[in-house]
Amino acid sequence: MPETIYDIAIIGSGPAGYTAAIRAGQYGLKTALIEKDNVLGGTCLHVGCIPTKALLFNAEIWDHLKDAKEFGIDGVDSRKLNWGAVQERKSKIVAKHTKGLDFLMKKNKVEVIRGYGKLTGPAKEGVFVVDVKASDGKTTQLRAKNVILSTGSEARMIPGLEPDAQILTNIEILDISQIPKSLVIVGAGAVGVEFASIFRSFDTKVTILEMLPRLVPVEDEDVSKELARVYRKRGIEFFTGAKVEKVEKSKAGITVTFSVDGKPQKIEAEKILVAIGRKPRTENVGLEKTRIQPERGFIKTNEWMQTAEPGIYAIGDIVLGTPQLAHAGAMEGLVAVSKIAGKEAKPIDIQKIPNATYCHPEIGSVGLTEAKAKEKGHTVKVGKFPFTANSRASIVGQHDGFIKIVSDTEYGEILGVHIIGPQATELIAEAVAAMELEATVEDLMWTIHAHPTLAEAMLDASNSVYGIAINA
Ligand SMILES: Cc1cc2nc3c(=O)[nH]c(=O)nc-3n(C[C@H](O)[C@H](O)[C@H](O)COP(=O)(O)OP(=O)(O)OC[C@H]3O[C@@H](n4cnc5c(N)ncnc54)[C@H](O)[C@@H]3O)c2cc1C
Repeated sequence: MPETIYDIAIIGSGPAGYTAAIRAGQYGLKTALIEKDNVLGGTCLHVGCIPTKALLFNAEIWDHLKDAKEFGIDGVDSRKLNWGAVQERKSKIVAKHTKGLDFLMKKNKVEVIRGYGKLTGPAKEGVFVVDVKASDGKTTQLRAKNVILSTGSEARMIPGLEPDAQILTNIEILDISQIPKSLVIVGAGAVGVEFASIFRSFDTKVTILEMLPRLVPVEDEDVSKELARVYRKRGIEFFTGAKVEKVEKSKAGITVTFSVDGKPQKIEAEKILVAIGRKPRTENVGLEKTRIQPERGFIKTNEWMQTAEPGIYAIGDIVLGTPQLAHAGAMEGLVAVSKIAGKEAKPIDIQKIPNATYCHPEIGSVGLTEAKAKEKGHTVKVGKFPFTANSRASIVGQHDGFIKIVSDTEYGEILGVHIIGPQATELIAEAVAAMELEATVEDLMWTIHAHPTLAEAMLDASNSVYGIAINA
């Protein structure tokens, strides 16, 4: 039998890699998807987006039950949380979607190859050779005309610490057998504030330590302020400008020494979650045999996801300069495959990648923050509409937060939209679509929104840019 030469070999089956593989199959390309783990789906499906959002939904229901009386529901005072059942539901969701991925690979004729993939060098006569080491240690070689790297990322650790029963990353915390009485979280990015939200709902004493001056530091400053206000109200303690000096094991679990403005402080807790960012997994994939020179581990690409080595593409969390988010990686996968297949595609525009943080209250944002817009020289006009004035927010009993639209005064261009409040991660889709279609604030002002909806707050926010919101 002649040896198979694939059109594309994709290394890594997270949301970036599996999306690329499905689209490659749809385009009729002969595709191999190489995965080192025994399940497809990567961080997102197994230890990221999906299990955390499952737990956040449990937490939301639990919080609603705390307010049951207000909704006229009596008799739930004796409620008890069955953590085992919560975990089981989360695992079932993950298992269902893992099966779904296996099905989609078969449906699209993608060949899944189990093993650790490594580049052996540039293409020779247009063909790359990828080493694939199976779990039994045997290495085989796979040939492909193009290679897509989608090896993802892993949690960064505080130097000198190793994850164990008390020191956790996103992997260990998703598997704990009991809700901790107290938890210190280092890092107030999306991962940190989401776990803070989950465990606070389940009555854990949560303390967040963030090195930068505010919570969710990539978001608009007003969003950080509102989250801080609500987190205070929820009893989540946090220190910003906090530098972790030492983490020691103690009787209670761990003792964390940190300093704020040079003043040392100590906290004890049962466990510590380290959520200080994610390191691209590019160390042992053979990059040194190619022209790709990683920067701090990240791979530089052009807007079509092409690397410095012709025929090798990079997508997902390993890419330099795009956010480490599942939907960013997935779209990068589609762009790369389109380029390989010679099909029409739209390159990635970083300004139009939404951020979604599913803490309570949720955060959804896209485009420039007010500060960034000013920094870039825009003459900015801002509209802000609070959910307190939205009737659907009253109905669902969630009044915290607002929608803020940052626009350019000249033509009313929408530069950024920042939402904190109920369903913010869903509501942001309208803003992304509007920006993608180059809608102006005025276009939004004449877009009819159903009543009563949370989405109407977007209509009011657009009107508030010109000081004429109806409901506030
Ligand atoms: C707790 C948490 C919550 C998150 N929540 C969200 C969210 O709600 N929304 C969102 O958009 N993003 C979220 N993210 C981020 C999201 O998970 C990542 O952006 C996404 O998983 C990146 O996808 P990827 O395909 O680049 O890499 P990964 O998902 O990391 O997948 C990489 C895959 O490659 C495999 N692999 C690595 N090296 C090799 C090799 N040499 N050979 C073979 N296989 C290899 C790995 O085993 C893995 O399966 C979250 C992350 C965390 C940690």
